[in-house]
Amino acid sequence: MKRIIKEIRTIFNELDGFIPLHSPLFAGNEKEYLMQCIDSTFVSSVGEFVTRFERQISEYTGAGFAVAAVNGTSALHLALHALGIGDRDEVITQPLTFVATCNAISYTGARPVFVDVDRDTMGMSPESLKEFLEQYCELRSNQCFRRETGKRIKACVPMHSFGFPCRIEDIVNICNDWNIPVIEDAAESLGSLSGGRHTGTFGKMGIFSFNGNKIITAGGGGCVVTDDEKLALRLKHLSTTAKEAHPWEYFHNETGFNYRMPNINAALLCAQMEELPVFLEKKRELAERYLEVFGRMGIEVKKERENTRANYWLNTIVMRSREERDALLEEAIKSKVMIRPAWKLMNTLPMYRDSFSASVKNSKNLSDCIVNVPSSVI
Ligand SMILES: *Cc1c(COP(=O)(O)O)cnc(C)c1O
Repeated sequence: MKRIIKEIRTIFNELDGFIPLHSPLFAGNEKEYLMQCIDSTFVSSVGEFVTRFERQISEYTGAGFAVAAVNGTSALHLALHALGIGDRDEVITQPLTFVATCNAISYTGARPVFVDVDRDTMGMSPESLKEFLEQYCELRSNQCFRRETGKRIKACVPMHSFGFPCRIEDIVNICNDWNIPVIEDAAESLGSLSGGRHTGTFGKMGIFSFNGNKIITAGGGGCVVTDDEKLALRLKHLSTTAKEAHPWEYFHNETGFNYRMPNINAALLCAQMEELPVFLEKKRELAERYLEVFGRMGIEVKKERENTRANYWLNTIVMRSREERDALLEEAIKSKVMIRPAWKLMNTLPMYRDSFSASVKNSKNLSDCIVNVPSSVI
């Protein structure tokens, strides 16, 4: 364990100071755009940086449209809400994810149902998804229902864990057979590709997060991407209190949300987007060093699959057991090197314990054994 810590310190050229898991870097036009934004006084929900940022995201990812939101969780909530998901519905997701995925599902009134992840990608397993649908669900008038509850399966939300693309093409194909829209939780995977195409753009919608620890950040922020123009307009409408455009009237035609991204956050993000290609390059170099160093020690390091490109947001290593993992975490805390275990599985949390869960063997094993190692851009 001491050797692992020592190697991390060598890589970061930091012999005894604190090493964070992931700190942001503001070395481009961030200050300039922030000053412009402040000088304009348009710091809140109206301003040109929001539009500019949305255009940057759609150009970069190849998505038709991007709608900025105040954070990734609200972006996901908006996407689910726009599909009309409510308390008579269920939404398929994976138990190995950040709690925001399931919380956003719950905000709509729907319940999450869990299928397993693949051991290699750490994202939703197409086999587990297919098996679940075939074993427990049926199509009635081309709508998917779960037999036991009679509830409609109204969406599927796979997540690209730590920036490693899951088998998204297979997942979308299976969901198409069952007429289930896919919303990709790409909160962690901005810049990751599968078959040359950006994660977040395979499903009906995809969401990104720009929280403080993500690959680019505005302190907080999020967005939804989609190719469907009508849907994009609806997402924008919902995120802006469902107010109809009018020179003076305040007319809201449904219960909307105050989920707009403030212009001042967008200013920061416009600059961060310019830096993203450099971040990706440097993160790739760091990942290669981890692969080399830990590979030599016989420790499994997560690596992008063939025909995919990971953004290497958080480098991930796999310990042999939970005990070994805990020993490493203890050593890390003592040595002030930030190493983080995976999340506790969603199907074990009090609010989701009663949700249906398929066999989640891989999720359990990964949740016990993986840790994220420091991954800031250096
Ligand atoms: C960060 C994250 C979110 C939510 O993003 P916030 O911007 O923090 O609301 C959602 N899902 C996953 C998997 C995340 O990692």
